[in-house]
Amino acid sequence: MLEPSPEAELVMAFANTVDLEDGTDELATSAEANKWLQANDLPRVNAADHRRLLDLRTGIRAALAGSTETGTGQAVLAELPVFVNLTGDVLTATHSALSRLAIAWAVVALTGQAERLKRCADDACGWVFWDVSRNHSRRWCTMRVCGNRAKARRYTARQKQER
Ligand SMILES: [Zn+2]
Repeated sequence: MLEPSPEAELVMAFANTVDLEDGTDELATSAEANKWLQANDLPRVNAADHRRLLDLRTGIRAALAGSTETGTGQAVLAELPVFVNLTGDVLTATHSALSRLAIAWAVVALTGQAERLKRCADDACGWVFWDVSRNHSRRWCTMRVCGNRAKARRYTARQKQER
């Protein structure tokens, strides 16, 4: 499976609403969050759910980085009502943006797609990408930018040690 499913695309887009390098956040305010949700065919959120939306994103980003410290994100998931339709169409059976995102996340995790969904190993970057390498071993979003930056840093660190 080389192409991300719609659920993986959604999780990836959601995780990348924050750009660490540019210092921008597409979900910074409720109004901005609702604009993003609307563009992604998701229902709007109120102020309380906006807070939860940010916590869920923090949790998902932590999980994608391989961390188990998903604290507030996990708390959001635990409180969510998730409606499962017995005819099997779970996605249309849920009504809040949070529940829809949680289900997308569950699908990604349960279908093994989480193995290809990675967060860039460069902490200053943190971009979430879809790893198409055969043994899903990619660590950086773009080898050209982040991979080379990491290499340069290791090189500088070594130079310092040698002195
Ligand atoms: Zn990167």
